[in-house]
Amino acid sequence: MQELHNDIQFLKGLGPKRAELLNTELNIFTFNDLLHHYPFRYIDRSKFYKVKELNESLQNVQLKGIIRNFKTKGSKYKQVLTADFSDETGIIELIWFKGTKWIMQNLVSGKEYIIFGKPARYGRKINIAHPEIDSLEDAKKKMTSQLQAVYPSTEKLVKKGINSKVFNKALASVFEKLSAKIPETLPAYIIEKLKLISHHDAIKNIHFPKDNYTLQKTIFRLKFEELFYIQLNVLQLKYNRKLQFKGYEFPIVGDFFNRFYNEKLPFELTGAQKRVIKEIRHDFASGKQSNRLLQGDVGSGKTLVGLMLMLIALDNNFQASLMAPTEILAQQHFVTISKFVEGLGINVSLLTGSTKTKERRALHENLLNGNIHILIGTHALIEDVVKFKNLGLVIIDEQHRFGVAQRAKMWKKNIRPPHVIVMTATPIPRTLSMTVYGDLDISIIDELPPGRKPIKTIHFFDSKRLVLFKFMREQIAAGRQIYIVYPLIFESENFEYKDLEDGLESISREFPSPKYAISVVHGQMKPKEKEIAMNYFAKGITNIMIATTVIEVGVDVPNATVMIIESAERFGLSQLHQLRGRVGRGGEQSYCILMTSYKLSADGIKRIKTMVDTNDGFEIAEVDMKLRGPGDAEGTRQSGMPFELKLSNLREDYKILELARHTATDVLDADGELKNDKNKILERQLKRLKTSNVKWGVVS
Ligand code: ADP
Ligand code: MG
Repeated sequence: MQELHNDIQFLKGLGPKRAELLNTELNIFTFNDLLHHYPFRYIDRSKFYKVKELNESLQNVQLKGIIRNFKTKGSKYKQVLTADFSDETGIIELIWFKGTKWIMQNLVSGKEYIIFGKPARYGRKINIAHPEIDSLEDAKKKMTSQLQAVYPSTEKLVKKGINSKVFNKALASVFEKLSAKIPETLPAYIIEKLKLISHHDAIKNIHFPKDNYTLQKTIFRLKFEELFYIQLNVLQLKYNRKLQFKGYEFPIVGDFFNRFYNEKLPFELTGAQKRVIKEIRHDFASGKQSNRLLQGDVGSGKTLVGLMLMLIALDNNFQASLMAPTEILAQQHFVTISKFVEGLGINVSLLTGSTKTKERRALHENLLNGNIHILIGTHALIEDVVKFKNLGLVIIDEQHRFGVAQRAKMWKKNIRPPHVIVMTATPIPRTLSMTVYGDLDISIIDELPPGRKPIKTIHFFDSKRLVLFKFMREQIAAGRQIYIVYPLIFESENFEYKDLEDGLESISREFPSPKYAISVVHGQMKPKEKEIAMNYFAKGITNIMIATTVIEVGVDVPNATVMIIESAERFGLSQLHQLRGRVGRGGEQSYCILMTSYKLSADGIKRIKTMVDTNDGFEIAEVDMKLRGPGDAEGTRQSGMPFELKLSNLREDYKILELARHTATDVLDADGELKNDKNKILERQLKRLKTSNVKWGVVS
């Protein structure tokens, strides 16, 4: 519908200046943009307050009462008008700084009016400045809808007087100007089946709700639509890929795998590890390319599973590759895996940014002629010069540091794309894994190897510092190592290091050299410096590692048994959990100590309590999502949620999300390419959503 693209400047109450503000502040250019600028709440105009109930913390309120005693104050040029407003419970003052003449000419002293505005306090008295005023008769006429929309705005817009009333008026004017109904965006058969209200009615009612019941139906319809298209999009990606990309088949489980399993594996696999290997072997045998997210808490044995999967690739005459987010992690993987496969005749190589040119050349050659079976490395693996003879499997460790685009680059390393397994320790609530990672299949390791001593988590207020120091000395005397982590909110701003610097000073005093040695790592160090410091700690040369959250991902130092988190109340829950995962990796009892001040918010208390109460990453992820709301839950935005969620809330709307996913699955099962006439509308709408969202480009 062409009209929807009309410029908003011609709408009632707007004009070029205000339109421009809306362009720049809210990205609203056309009727359509404005129609999709949804209210965030509604004021119930059927409710009346009494004067005695008023206080300055209330938002806009509506009152019924008598206006009298008009008084003007001030000079001729800066006149202030006041009047008394009273109901049977008390009197407040009304104030006007502008338009006083009009008020005096049009209001009748002693008459009953309905007023609407924001109460403020002046001294001991409550007043309302520039209230909206209606006579009883007018109010009756006006109130087609009792629920009045309130719109999200910006400081600048509010300053320029663009408030909800302006939005209301402009939107009413849009509906007056439209010559037809806003076109439908869902196929008729879905609307019918789910008894949804039409798109036009939904858009109309979100701005001008007829009543509460219709508003509920409206919100349901719009939320469903948002979530449905997200689901349709990710599921279609998955569907198309399966259709398009044949994968390599790995039918054999051969000597490499079996010898490792029988001769090398020093322990029994957990039930969860066995199940996951089975799931993925099923992919390998299916003839389709596998794209799987392997999720499991820190220490659940993902890397080991990754290794065994690589051995299956090798058994089928393919090469395999493991990619890690940092050089240290890559090195650690290289060391552990080399040790694991010792004597099996497997050639493992390491490629990172610091691999020397000469070595690199030899490495490239050995990859191409197939001498190297397993290549472990960092981003360096992605580069085009790195070519394999026959790459069959790519394992990516710690997903969140790799973009989807990088994932896709690895697909091009063989004629058919190799299987891709993405391993992550960041527990993802189901709602997120259905959306952000919705195009991947998911396997979960939900069991830790037996005999692990659960990490003991303790909360100390700052006053317990002496107890803490004593405990640290004991641990160091027992040969253990300790992390101390300081919060860092804005990586670029220097003053944030104050905490770390102060901490370092007091720790150095308490743990003086030469008896003790300390490493320091923070985000403003050069990568090389960071690495040296980390290596000192990893090798046990230093006893204490003082760091900002840069150590969150990665380093595995089994001898480090104590994680102290300073100002723990300033960390998010999933971050605390990730940090805690740095300890508890060896056989010794490990501890996580959360230091906080006495000033804790309710959320802060909940976070600390959750950490103390549970080690279960999934439980923590759910609590985290509840506390933060999914809007900013771990990487929703960055991970490229394909379309913006305007109304839906992934946590609260879980039921609708599931309905949306089922519906989208049914649609694609019946018509995977959306070629049926009745599904044409879906294809069109998907295309429209994609082009209207710039972020779309980053998602494969
Ligand atoms: P993740 O990658 O999930 O953090 P790892 O694969 O690095 O976990 O495993 C953590 C530690 O546990 C490693 O030392 C590994 O050898 C060991 N491990 C893995 N699986 C088991 C198992 N089934 N039983 C005992 N130890 C295991
Ligand atoms: Mg790991």
